[in-house]
Amino acid sequence: MKYNSGCMLCEGPIVNLICFRCMGDEIKVWLQGKDKKLVKVLEGNDFLLKSYNRDGRICIECGREMNVCVDCYAYEVSELLELYGPHVSNEFKQLFNIQVERHRY
Ligand SMILES: [Zn+2]
Ligand SMILES: [Zn+2]
Repeated sequence: MKYNSGCMLCEGPIVNLICFRCMGDEIKVWLQGKDKKLVKVLEGNDFLLKSYNRDGRICIECGREMNVCVDCYAYEVSELLELYGPHVSNEFKQLFNIQVERHRY
């Protein structure tokens, strides 16, 4: 039996105490100026992630409970952008400093 703690995707401890929603908000602000359709894609993904179990800790920015680490989130977003918005995915990776060769789950 596993505890409900840490990231729900990679199962690692959440070290960066910023929730994916705060990071998502930042990404969406950037995407808004690029392609509004992609903002919708991200919102759909966020909706799914919000339904996951919670880690006990809370985000230092918004005070909501955490469940997915920002590394996994950034990875998911970069996958989505590659699929739906290849024209912005490279810029995204540079801007948000994404290491795509990271773990896969
Ligand atoms: Zn993770
Ligand atoms: Zn937050």
